[in-house]
Amino acid sequence: MVLGHESAGTVVEAGAAVATLKVGDRVALEPGYPCRRCRACLGGHYNLCPDMVFAATPPYDGTLAGFWAAPADFCYRLPDAVSLQEGALIEPLAVAVHIARQAQVSPGQSVVVMGAGPVGLLVGAVARAFGATTVVAVDIVPSKLEFATSFAATHTYLSQRVAPEENARNILAEAGLPAGADVVIDASGAEPSIQASLHVVRVGGTYVQGGMGKPDITFPIMALCLKEVTARGSFRYGSGDYKLAIDLVAAGRVDVKRLIDGVVAFKDAEEAFRKVHEGKVIKILIAGPNEKIDGDKLDAAAAPA
Ligand SMILES: [Zn+2]
Repeated sequence: MVLGHESAGTVVEAGAAVATLKVGDRVALEPGYPCRRCRACLGGHYNLCPDMVFAATPPYDGTLAGFWAAPADFCYRLPDAVSLQEGALIEPLAVAVHIARQAQVSPGQSVVVMGAGPVGLLVGAVARAFGATTVVAVDIVPSKLEFATSFAATHTYLSQRVAPEENARNILAEAGLPAGADVVIDASGAEPSIQASLHVVRVGGTYVQGGMGKPDITFPIMALCLKEVTARGSFRYGSGDYKLAIDLVAAGRVDVKRLIDGVVAFKDAEEAFRKVHEGKVIKILIAGPNEKIDGDKLDAAAAPA
């Protein structure tokens, strides 16, 4: 199967009925195409469409290819200020935008983000852009927390091998939130993080599950009940999320460039996957097979591993 779902490219051909795009336009590619007719689609939640055709999700091939055919309304023209490389990062940023919208992050709030991988980092940045005044990044890797501090986090906490309640107490002490956090977002999918999340959220607060890990875990449901926590899931992205993600980058509110550790030629794609697997980088872009890498001046179809 062909991999890839975080991509941008240049329009080389447009259908006769396409009025919104022309040859040469640079676009971010939203990689999932819903049926447009089912209850979820018609209800405005096309990300929940049961008949979604999504790149690199069996049986469908992904975008790591020289050419890609897409419906025009799922191609988002990039403003001049946004590079194609940044365009390839719109996909994970749209995931973060959707999570922050599910959490209804609002000005002045405190937000704890469990996990400082790409999505966790981007959720922190979007939360700041939405007006959160306290954003706490939590992870088990010190270097990820260092990066989070320089990116969007106001506070960090290095998770310890202790009970989730104790990690939760430490997080709240570190961030000066004795009453708990307004919003907790799990972007890790890890069971101990999810358990700590329910002890970090304040009475009446909101918890959103963004990360995907084991399908079943032990969950502190009593804390959810006693605190009347609002719990929500978050899956991919829906109406308006891609557009807002591009607007945030164009306005300089989220600097996705900082997540890019380099670009490799298409033939060296394996190297990119290996580096990501080894945890040495956050994102590496893979140039499209029709593009030459010209130092830093790559302006090519590119997809991060
Ligand atoms: Zn549908």
